[in-house]
Amino acid sequence: KKMTGNELRKSFLQFFASKDHLVEPSHSLIPDNDPSLLLIGAGMAPFKPFFTGKMKPPHPRITTSQKCVRTGDIENVGRTARHHTFFEMLGNFSFGDYFKKEAIAWAWEYLTEHLELPKEKLWITIHTSDDEAFEIWNKDINIAAERIIRMEDNFWEIGPGPCGPCSEVYFDLGEDRGCGKPDCAVGCDCDRYLEIWNLVFTQFDRDEAGNYTPLVKKNIDTGAGLERIASVLQNKASNFETDLLFPVIEHACRIAGVHYGEAAKTDVSLKVIADHARSMTVMIADGVLPANEGRGYVLRRILRRAVRHGRMMGIEKPFLVGIVDIAANIFAEPYPEIAEKIAYIKKVIQLEEERFQATLIQGMELLNKHIEELIQSNIKVLDGVVAFKLYDTYGFPWELTQEILSEHNFEIDRRGFDVAMSEQRERARAARLETDEKVIIPDLSGLVIDELSKLSYDENATVARIVLLLK
Ligand code: ATP
Ligand code: MG
Ligand code: MG
Ligand code: MG
Repeated sequence: KKMTGNELRKSFLQFFASKDHLVEPSHSLIPDNDPSLLLIGAGMAPFKPFFTGKMKPPHPRITTSQKCVRTGDIENVGRTARHHTFFEMLGNFSFGDYFKKEAIAWAWEYLTEHLELPKEKLWITIHTSDDEAFEIWNKDINIAAERIIRMEDNFWEIGPGPCGPCSEVYFDLGEDRGCGKPDCAVGCDCDRYLEIWNLVFTQFDRDEAGNYTPLVKKNIDTGAGLERIASVLQNKASNFETDLLFPVIEHACRIAGVHYGEAAKTDVSLKVIADHARSMTVMIADGVLPANEGRGYVLRRILRRAVRHGRMMGIEKPFLVGIVDIAANIFAEPYPEIAEKIAYIKKVIQLEEERFQATLIQGMELLNKHIEELIQSNIKVLDGVVAFKLYDTYGFPWELTQEILSEHNFEIDRRGFDVAMSEQRERARAARLETDEKVIIPDLSGLVIDELSKLSYDENATVARIVLLLK
C-alpha cells in the first residue's frame, strides 16, 4: 500500500490505539534521568522504569514513534540503504500485560492486512532457544518452518536495563538487491533482506555488572524503522529516496550542482548530508549544543562531517543553514516544535559551521601534508600529536581525521592522541584555577535549554553568543 512517511506513522499509532494502546508523543532525544545513555537510541529507552517495575506506566499498553539517534551507525550511513544516525522507531509496548502471542499476531496483522505487504516476501527470525515463538509463528500465523530462522544473536539489549530474546521480521527485496554471494540469506549484511521490525520479549533486567535477573512481569518491546518501512511501501531503492529524506538530497544537489544517481561517491555524500541534516536539526531542537564532549560532541561530529561531505562535492560556502529548513519542513507535521525553534536551530548551526569553516581548509592542508609524508616514508600510522593538533587547533573530531586517513588505509596513533588530550585537559584545568574565571550564564528565557546548570564551559560560550545574535 502506498503511503507517505507521515501517513505510515499515523497508521501505525492508530492501529495500536485500536488495540487499546495509549498513544504517546515521542520523548526527547535527551534521556531523562538515565546516565547510562547519551542519546535515546530505541523506542523502549524512555520506558525502562516501566519495564523494571520501578515506576507505574499511565497505561499497561503504550505506542510511540520515537526519535532515535545511533552514532554507532554513522559509518554505515550512505553505505547501506537502511542505516541512519537519526531515525524514528515505531513501537508498541506491554508493561506486564500482553506477551508473545499478541505481539506476534498484531505485527503480522499490521504488516499484511494494513500495509498489505505480500506474505511470501516476509521472513522471520527467532532466538535459537525460543520454541514458544516458533510455535506461534508456525501454528498460529501459519508461517512455513523453513521461513522461521533460529539465530544465536537474537537477543536484544541496550546498555543496562530490560532485555530479552527477540524475533525479527525481514522483507525480501529481491535477488537483484543482494550481494549475490552463494550464502546470502536472512541476516546477511547486504541490502537484500531488510530487517523491518524487531519484537523483543523483555524478560530480564541486566545490571551494570552484566548479571541477568528475570523480571517479575514479562513485557513486550517492539521497534520498527519508519524510514525502512516507508522505503518498502514507496518502492524505493533506499530509505534516502523516501519522502522522509529525499527533499534534503534534492536541495543539496541544487547547491552542489550535482545529480543524484550519477556517481557512487557523490551519492554517499548526498546521503550523509541528508541524514546528518535531520540529526542535527532534531538534536538541537531537543536542547543539544555543540561541545567537546558528551552528546554535544556527537552533534559537533555529525555537523562537521556534513560540512566535509559538502566540500567533497565542491560546496565551499556555508550551506547547512539552508539545508536545515528543508529538514525542519519534513518534520513540520509530527514535530511542530521544531518549526517553532527554527531561528534558534539555524543560529546554532550557523555559528558551528562558521567556526569549522574557518579552520577546515588549513586543517585539511596540514592533514594532506602529513598524508603525503606517510605515503613517502611508507608509514601507516599518523602521529597522535598531529591528530590532536587537528582536533585542538582546527576542530577536527578525531573520528573525522580517522575517517579521512582510512580512505588512504592509514590509522591514527590513538594512544598518542589520548596522551596529548589529557595533557591539554590538565593545562586547561590549571589555567582555570589560576584565573578563577566565572562562567556567565546568559538569560535564556524562551530558549530550549532547561538544564543550564549542566552546560559545560564551551556550551555556555556558544549560548552566550547565540543570545547576543538573536537580540
Ligand atoms: P540492523 O541489523 O539493520 O542494523 P538493528 O538490529 O540494529 O538493525 P534494532 O536494534 O533491532 O535494529 O532496532 C529495531 C528497528 O529499528 C530495526 O528493525 C530497524 O527497522 C530500525 N533501525 C535500527 N537501526 C536503524 C538505523 N540506524 N537507521 C534506521 N532504522 C534503524
Ligand atoms: Mg544495527
Ligand atoms: Mg539487526
Ligand atoms: Mg534488530
